Amino acid sequence: MSIGTHRPTVITVDGDAIRHNVAAEIAQLNPDSELFAVIKADGYGHGMTHVAKYAAEAGATGFCVAILDEALTLRAAGFQQPILVLGIVEPCYAQLIADQKISVAVGSQAWLAEAISYLKGNTVVRVHLALDTGMGRIGFQTPEELHAALDFLTGHDQQFDFEGIFTHFATADEKEQTYFETQLQRFRDFMAVVPRKPRYVHVANSATSLWHQVCDGNMIRFGVAMYGMNPSGRLLTVPRVIHPAMTLKSALVFVKKLPRGRSVSYGATYTAAADEWIGTVPIGYADGYPRCLQGFHVLINGQFCEIVGRVCMDQFMVRLPEKMPVGTEVVLVGESGSQHITMVDVAEAAGTINYEIACGFSARIPRRYVNDQKS
Ligand SMILES: *Cc1c(COP(=O)(O)O)cnc(C)c1O
Repeated sequence: MSIGTHRPTVITVDGDAIRHNVAAEIAQLNPDSELFAVIKADGYGHGMTHVAKYAAEAGATGFCVAILDEALTLRAAGFQQPILVLGIVEPCYAQLIADQKISVAVGSQAWLAEAISYLKGNTVVRVHLALDTGMGRIGFQTPEELHAALDFLTGHDQQFDFEGIFTHFATADEKEQTYFETQLQRFRDFMAVVPRKPRYVHVANSATSLWHQVCDGNMIRFGVAMYGMNPSGRLLTVPRVIHPAMTLKSALVFVKKLPRGRSVSYGATYTAAADEWIGTVPIGYADGYPRCLQGFHVLINGQFCEIVGRVCMDQFMVRLPEKMPVGTEVVLVGESGSQHITMVDVAEAAGTINYEIACGFSARIPRRYVNDQKS
């Protein structure tokens, strides 16, 4: 992927925003609880190693990623903190996992048994047992299954370090609490068969940590809120101040007067009702700016300007209130004058959630880092 360093479309990531969000969260935790920064998917599109650095500077003691390669990238970048891979890694990589001192989620005894056959040296694989309490994704299904796996681990303590146990909530960001309570009860039923608690017991993602204080565990997996995004979209209010870390800006690269009756973009789905000033913005769905955003808006000089015609792969058009010079700044996510566009605004217009918009911005958009050094 060629990075568009010669195009005026740029994502800016504010290190201070991430440091603030992490520190504010740690201030709310029990003193014996740790915060692991969730930096999967290139730090939700913000840039994994930069986010890791900011989070660690603010007190995060470990990291969570989704796939083994993300963990290896972090190790190669020199991070020596605990790193937990939240997804299932194939057992054939057991020796690599052990050598790199990476921790992995394990959801079955079969995984443990198979991993043993790939271990050569006398290093141990650090495992966090995943408990499926209602997410229905990965994890042990019953306390009986868990109990059998614990026995297996006890019998193979030369191969495995039983480092953690965890579950994941499906509805922690919703008003209705019944399903959450059911999951919490199932978690406690699972924990009743664990004779010796491992170093890390963790149940909380951002939403759980923000809205369910009375939770079990001594570590949280802090993701979306670290980036200054509300896990619930608009549904619930975040009980502390969090700062959005990402802004997305571009600039007008072409400006013209479109005569009344002329149309814009593929399908000619927009026709000028009068003579109009139309500007072209150099970003499109190949950059992760959704194609369906015709009718949504951007900010120019503090004014909302409608996206007219379909968003193309690399460009889209906006209707301007007046003639404007090429080079005029266009804000797609962030502030302009007294107005702003949030990731949730974009997500709602596109029929999705802020998470998907942020991590969907492609590698073609360069990331610039401000407040990169801790002050
Ligand atoms: C992605 C993920 C998280 C982080 O969730 P946020 O809502 O971004 O805080 C936590 N735990 C697991 C298992 C995840 O997959």
